[in-house]
Order: sequence, then C-alpha cells, then structure tokens
Amino acid sequence: MSRRPIIAGNWKMHKTIAEAVDFARNLKPALAGVRGRVEVAVCPAFTALAGVAEVLQDTEIAVGAQDVHWEESGAFTGEVSPAMLKDAGCRYVIAGHSERRQLFGETSGNVNRKVKAVLSHGLIPVMCVGETLAEREAGITEEVVRTQTGAGLDGLAPEQVAAMVIAYEPVWAIGTGRNASEEDAQQVTGYIRGLVREWYGNTAAERLRIQYGGSVKPENAAGLMAMPDIDGALVGGASLKVASFVEIIKASVLS
Ligand code: PEP
Repeated sequence: MSRRPIIAGNWKMHKTIAEAVDFARNLKPALAGVRGRVEVAVCPAFTALAGVAEVLQDTEIAVGAQDVHWEESGAFTGEVSPAMLKDAGCRYVIAGHSERRQLFGETSGNVNRKVKAVLSHGLIPVMCVGETLAEREAGITEEVVRTQTGAGLDGLAPEQVAAMVIAYEPVWAIGTGRNASEEDAQQVTGYIRGLVREWYGNTAAERLRIQYGGSVKPENAAGLMAMPDIDGALVGGASLKVASFVEIIKASVLS
C-alpha cells in the first residue's frame, strides 16, 4: 500500500502574523509543480493560524496547530479547543511534542485525550513520540517508544489510527543539528509500524503515516525519506525559511 508522505513545518514560537502570512504567500509559488506526490503542511503559532489559512485556502498546502486542549469549551484559561482550531482553518494538530512533554509536563494520558478530541472533530493528529539521549544510551529506546505509542493510541479504533500521523522524534536530535542516521530512524519507525500492526491490524499499520523529525535539513532529507517506513518529516528549524523548507520537500519527492 502506498502512503502519501507528509512534510510538515513546526514553526514553534517563531514569526509574527505578518511574517507567517508572508511565508505562506512565498511558499505558494515556490511549490508550484512540486506537490501531488507529497503533502505539505505548516504549523504556525496560534496567533497566525487564521491568517496563514486564509492565504493558503485555495491551495493543497495544509495548516496545522502545535497543540490543543481536549475539552470543547469552558474555564481553561490559555487553552484552545479542537473546534477553534478547525474554525481557524486547521487540518492537522500536533500532540505530545517533546517540548510540551519536557517543558510543560505533558503526560501520555493527556496526549491520548488530545488525540481523541482532535479525531472527533475530523482533524488529523500528528502524535509525537521519541526517546531522550539518556534513554537511548540506556538501551531502552523501544521500551520508551512502545509506552508512549501505546498510551497515546489507547482506546482508538483501527480506522482512527489508520488516519493519523505519528512523528518519531528522538529528543536528542531535535534542534541539535544531529539527526538520527537513516538506519536508526528506519529501525524505530519500522518498530512503531510493527506495534500498530500488532495492536490495530494490518490495514491500520499500512495506512498510518510515520514521520521522522529531528534536525531534518535539505542535505539529509532525501536519504531519510527513502527509508521504507518513513512517510515524511516534521521539520523545526529548517522550516522557518521558504528556501530550505522547499528544498526538503523537493528532496522527499525525489527520494
Ligand atoms: C521539531 O521541533 O519537531 C523538530 C524536529 O525540530 P528541528 O527540525 O529543529 O530539530
């Protein structure tokens, strides 16, 4: 079964509304003729979502949010609901990014609530999992990834898992310039697909898209994207400039 890869840019806490909208305007012509075989998404800060979505509304380029709260509405100061993200023009929602887990106490239980809430609104979760350097060095990468994946997907139907995106992002590779080798990234993404096959069946495993994330750059994108279980990338730093983001997208099409 062929899966359409997805390259998503996670802009983190960068770009004003004007900068984000300007990026979107420049991305459109830069991708002319490239899209089709690869899906492209950008994930701006909450403030810029609606503006970027408006610029991209007549294109195939999707918009994603970087986080979400699982409740519909209510007294949750500072939070944004899935319905609000849909209203702002989102198609994707990142859940459980390692920065949320490490800096803001995000638990796998909460990631699971977010994933379910996102799916129930017809949005697509991009659920992040990955080990720290200490965990890799202790030889427990698979154990960590198994626990995070199992908890995050708990209670979902196979069709829901099939529609999702999981991003394998080793924490030691994020923002460090040190990407996982193609072999290591393939080993863990293949392991995740095997888990999904064991828990949710063959169809879900074959349809689920698994991204690699962690210091993806124009120079390493093609090799990583050529791995059989890697279906695209979640890109941080290199997604902040149109030129490098487009180079990664082009490399993934060629791979
Ligand atoms: C990320 O934030 O998801 C990420 C992978 O960042 P970077 O590409 O900068 O390592």
